[in-house]
This record gives sequence, structure tokens and C-alpha cells, in this order.
Amino acid sequence: MKDCIFCKIAKGEIPSDKVYEDDKILVFHDIEPEAPVHVLIIPKTHISTLNEVNEGNSGVFSHMFEKIPEIANTLGVDSSGYRIVSNCGKDALQSVDHVHFHLLAKRSLKWPPG
Ligand code: AMP
Repeated sequence: MKDCIFCKIAKGEIPSDKVYEDDKILVFHDIEPEAPVHVLIIPKTHISTLNEVNEGNSGVFSHMFEKIPEIANTLGVDSSGYRIVSNCGKDALQSVDHVHFHLLAKRSLKWPPG
């Protein structure tokens, strides 16, 4: 997607503070962190929202979730705990139309978030 900021980050056209990268996914620090540890996990291919997930593209998400323990370990939060969140659409205040999962950690995360 030409004008998608996360596609540009995935291609290295816009810099990011990378935590993990492979051929399918990229993990980088959120520019406006909501917790002492706040990273974004994105598929490198453009998928706008969770509503676009289907049998043809869901493999990247199983790969992503297989990698989350390693990412959490790299960030030093696997023992202390973390929250994975994905906002989909207007009511969830999704602000970037490229599916992403927030990983938040290193503070007490209230639930429900409000
Ligand atoms: P959401 O509101 O769930 O769509 O989350 C989008 C997230 O992307 C927000 O937490 C932003 O702070 C973050 N964000 C936007 N632009 C950048 C960027 N260039 N680098 C890192 N994080 C970004």
C-alpha cells in the first residue's frame, strides 16, 4: 500500500526502533509508548484491519504468535507479564490502517482498559 506508514516502516523507508524482524513480521517500539515497554508487532504484508483476515493470509498471524514468546523474552517481560492488544476500526480507535498488535508491559495494566 503506497501511503501506508507501517508498509513504509516494514520496507525500511521510514526508520523505526526495531526489536525483531524476519521475512514475515516486524516488531518495533511504539513512538508514543503507553507503558515502559510498548512495541508494535506487524505483518510485513499490508492487511488493513482484523476484518481482512482470511484463510489466504492468516498464516502470518500464526507465525507472529509463535514468535511472541521469543519477543517477550528478548524484551525481558516473559516472566513479569504483558498484554497483547489489537484495535480494529472506529470504536476501538484504530489509528493506523495496517493490522498491528500492541505488546504492553512493565507496569500494572488495569482491566478493563476503559
Ligand atoms: P492504534 O491506535 O491501535 O492504531 O495504534 C497505532 C499506534 O502506532 C499508536 O500507538 C502510535 O503511537 C503508533 N505509531 C504511529 N506512527 C508510528 C511510527 N512512525 N513509529 C512507531 N509507532 C508509531
